[in-house]
Amino acid sequence: MSFQNVLANCSWEDTTRVIQNKTESDVRRALAATHPTIDDFMALISPAAIPFLEQMAQLSRHYTELRFGKTIQFYVPLYLTNACTNHCIYCGFNHNNKIERIVLNPDEIEQEVKAIHKIGPFEHVLLVTGESPKHAGVPYLKAAIEQLRQHFSAVSMEVQPLEMDDYKELISAGLNSVYVYQETYNKEKYPFYHPAGKKRDFNYRVETPDRLGQAGIHRMGLGVLIGLEDWRTDVTYLARHLEYLRKTYWRTRYSISFPRMRPYQGDGFKPNVILTDKELAQLIFAFRIFDHDVEMALSTRESAAFRDNMLALGVTNYSAGSKTDPGGYAVYPKALEQFAINDARTPQQVQQAIQAQGYQVVWKDWDRHF
Ligand code: SF4
Repeated sequence: MSFQNVLANCSWEDTTRVIQNKTESDVRRALAATHPTIDDFMALISPAAIPFLEQMAQLSRHYTELRFGKTIQFYVPLYLTNACTNHCIYCGFNHNNKIERIVLNPDEIEQEVKAIHKIGPFEHVLLVTGESPKHAGVPYLKAAIEQLRQHFSAVSMEVQPLEMDDYKELISAGLNSVYVYQETYNKEKYPFYHPAGKKRDFNYRVETPDRLGQAGIHRMGLGVLIGLEDWRTDVTYLARHLEYLRKTYWRTRYSISFPRMRPYQGDGFKPNVILTDKELAQLIFAFRIFDHDVEMALSTRESAAFRDNMLALGVTNYSAGSKTDPGGYAVYPKALEQFAINDARTPQQVQQAIQAQGYQVVWKDWDRHF
């Protein structure tokens, strides 16, 4: 059994049609549900829910405070390499892009860590690489995790999908969380965005969360890239995936995010769909109402104003002071970014904005002791 079994019973076109046909009475029913279903979720993200945004915001705020209190977890990304064998047409690191490829060595990682700690007392680091097993395979990742564990209490990673045994090995080395974004669940269109490289294999990627769950990962992050396909349909598949994983791997914690495409250096792929701030807010409220426990991240891709406005309304994790290029904190400050950031405030400035709203910044998550 894997998520493929769930996918086999879903149709992209039917899902889109059901969402578009939702009515205000469907939305009212979803808002009153004690345990909202996928069908309720579709009502909450549908155009019919727009007049209910204020009510959704209040409900989302209520569930978020109940589950997470008035806190926001901070994390910082650390890019180790921009080497990548994939050809994702929307990304500045793609194999065809003629850029200088950098792979940080242990001394350089140490310099980056020192620079990060100068900008804030971060305890949660997100290790990021392009997908290049030759440059950043399991031995490289394992050594990096062991090194970073000496400086941070939680190490997450966003790298190429791996085998279950590889995940087990990295978990033993101190890996806490893995983020693996499907980008789009539209299986037919997926190869267009991923024309070559291992990422072209839709099935292998979509089964990665199953391998993570079987490996016993503490937390996993799922997501779709907003800008490729109909966002409402894609996030419905994301909700189905989350629901399936929760039931199957109930010991694992879950986090989701929906990055909106940002400008990058390259051939200039333009987003096919635009998600407005209002719609992104609707999406965050809908997920919180659907799943009270899921963590939701808003990275520095989003503007300072939007992040400040969403603070109390559903999100739980923020990055701050981020550099999205390898060596960007100290070693190669002028290297190419994966995407342009939007919120360029320092971690202290973000912290002040959070505290001004009566919220507390949590730099250190719970340690794992089981
Ligand atoms: S999105 Fe990831 S896998 Fe695709 S080209 Fe960029 S770094 Fe490589």
